[in-house]
Amino acid sequence: MRSTSALERLAKVEKMFFDKTGTLTKLPMKVKSVFIAKSAKEKEERRKNLDGLEKNFVQVIASVEHGSEHPLARAIVEYANGMELSKPESFTALPGLGVTAKLNGENIVIGNERLNSQEQLTISSEIKQYADSMRDDGQVVVYVGWGGQVQGLVGLGETVREEAQAVIQRLQSRGLNLGVLTGDDEQAGRRWQEMLGIPVYAGLKPNEKMTHIVENTAMIGDGINDAPALAASTIGLAMNHGTDVARTAADIVLIRDDLRVVPWLFDLSKATMRIVKENLGWAFIYNIIGVGLAMAGLMKPVWAALAMVMSSVFVTANAMRMNKYPLLDGEILVVE
Ligand code: ADP
Ligand code: MG
Repeated sequence: MRSTSALERLAKVEKMFFDKTGTLTKLPMKVKSVFIAKSAKEKEERRKNLDGLEKNFVQVIASVEHGSEHPLARAIVEYANGMELSKPESFTALPGLGVTAKLNGENIVIGNERLNSQEQLTISSEIKQYADSMRDDGQVVVYVGWGGQVQGLVGLGETVREEAQAVIQRLQSRGLNLGVLTGDDEQAGRRWQEMLGIPVYAGLKPNEKMTHIVENTAMIGDGINDAPALAASTIGLAMNHGTDVARTAADIVLIRDDLRVVPWLFDLSKATMRIVKENLGWAFIYNIIGVGLAMAGLMKPVWAALAMVMSSVFVTANAMRMNKYPLLDGEILVVE
C-alpha cells in the first residue's frame, strides 16, 4: 500500500472496474498465428520462400514491439525468440491503440483497427476475412501495416485467469457493482461479457476509461492506458507486472499478481474500519462518563489519570486483534 489512507478508502468502495488485457487475462500471452497478405505479383515468390518471408515479417514486428511494455508486445518479442532484432530509428507508444515506429526508413504501424483508421491504412478483403476468423477463434488480432496498407496480422491467444470467476463471485457477494473497461474491440468485449457475466465496456481510450470512474469506485489495471483511471479512482490497484506508470498512479500494488488479493483486501479494509469505529465509539463514551464524573467531583485526579491510561490500553488491545487477521496464503480465509 502506497498510502496510509488506502484501506480507509477501499472500505468505502461500492463499484469496481477491472482492466481486461493483462489484468483479467492470463499471462504470458502467446502468439497463435501469423498471417501475411498476398499480392498477386509476390504470390509465386512467396510459395518458394514462405518461411523466409514469415521470418522477415516477425523480425520487423518484434523489432518494433521490443520498445513496448504491453503484454501483446511481450508475446510477440517472445515469439521471435532468438532472431536478431533491429533498433528502430524512432518509436511511439499509443496507449489503447498500439505502436508506430520508423524502421529502416519505413513507417511501421502495429495495433488495432482504430489505429488502422487513424493512420489511414487500407485493408484488403482477404485480410479482413482472416482477421474475422482469428476473432471467431477467440484470438486478439494485431494489425501490422506500412506503405499505406495493412500487410499482415498476428493472432494472440487470450485466456481468462483461473482465479477471475471466483474473485468476481466473492466481490459480488459483498454487494459490489463490477465491470470491465477495455481498449480491445467490441467483439472481444461481448465475448468477455458473456464469459464473466458482468458488463464490459469496450473500445475505450485511456481518457474514456477515466470517465467511467465515479465516486467510491476502485480500478484495477496494469497498463499505461489504465493510469488516468487508476489516478482518478477512489482507490487504484495495479498489477505488479504492470507498467511503472500504472504502479505509480495506483494506491495499492498487487505484488503477487494474484486477483484473489482484491476481495481479501476489501474484507481487511472493512474489518479495520470496524475496529477504528469501535475504538472511536468506546473512547467517546468512556470520556463522556469520565469527564462527567470528574466535573461532578466524583473522581479524584489520580483515578482519572489511571482511567485515561486504561482507555488507551483497551483501544490498543482492541486494535491488536488485527494481528490475528487470517493471511492470504494459498486459499483465502475470510472472517465474517
Ligand atoms: P486493455 O484495456 O484491455 O488492457 P489495451 O488498452 O492495453 O487493452 O490495448 C487495447 C488494444 O490496443 C489491444 O487490444 C491492442 O489491439 C492494441 N495495442 C495496445 N498496445 C499494443 C502494442 N504494443 N502492440 C499491438 N497492439 C497494441
Ligand atoms: Mg491492460
